[in-house]
Amino acid sequence: MASDVVRGKGESMDAVEGLRHIEMLMTRAARDAGRDPASVQLVCVSKTHEADVILPVLAAGQRVFGENRVQEAAAKWPALRARYPDIDLHLIGPLQSNKAADAVRLFDVIETVDREKIARALADEMTRQNRHPRLFVQVNTGAEPQKAGILPGELAGFMQFCRRDCGLNIEGLMCIPPANEQASPHFALLARLAREVGVSGLSMGMSGDFALAIELGATEVRDGSAIFGVRG
Ligand SMILES: *Cc1c(COP(=O)(O)O)cnc(C)c1O
Repeated sequence: MASDVVRGKGESMDAVEGLRHIEMLMTRAARDAGRDPASVQLVCVSKTHEADVILPVLAAGQRVFGENRVQEAAAKWPALRARYPDIDLHLIGPLQSNKAADAVRLFDVIETVDREKIARALADEMTRQNRHPRLFVQVNTGAEPQKAGILPGELAGFMQFCRRDCGLNIEGLMCIPPANEQASPHFALLARLAREVGVSGLSMGMSGDFALAIELGATEVRDGSAIFGVRG
């Protein structure tokens, strides 16, 4: 199953081989689910990895990347983007409102919109910079107190706030299931919530469970360790 693709640090497969392997497994998972493989995007999660590790993956043609910290992305990605202008960079980590300006400047997709203050700050910055990253709302499907994301029961009201009060166009939903639970009920819940609030994007599934996420409707999966090896 999918977990056997998570590679230990120092294993021999390099990042480009890891990328090709994941692409192959994603294609297979999509076909098995009766889906078009082109309907599922791979977000290559490059957090903690330096530019010299990312460059071969860029050279191999991958353009969609995920980072979880605004500061780290600010240090790494402007130079990489100068070489590869068609990069599609996703913010997949929590966002503080005092970083909203940097996030709007640096990212093409912000997946972690999860409260009114952030929605408002992003809307203001998008107007100010005239830059419009695509937006996903993060949902805390497991209602974990320490985890970011809007609670499922509050999603409809929050979507209305984003759309009506902030004029934001939300494209999809994102979740990170609880580490110690089966992921499938969380993926199924996210897919149902997306239908209920009328969005088509579903960012779900990581290195250990992306095949399952594809089966349950993911439009993008976020894989790091399956490509780069386990982060040290
Ligand atoms: C780190 C991270 C990932 C990638 O996790 P892997 O298990 O290395 O694939 C995916 N999504 C988010 C939000 C992350 O922070």
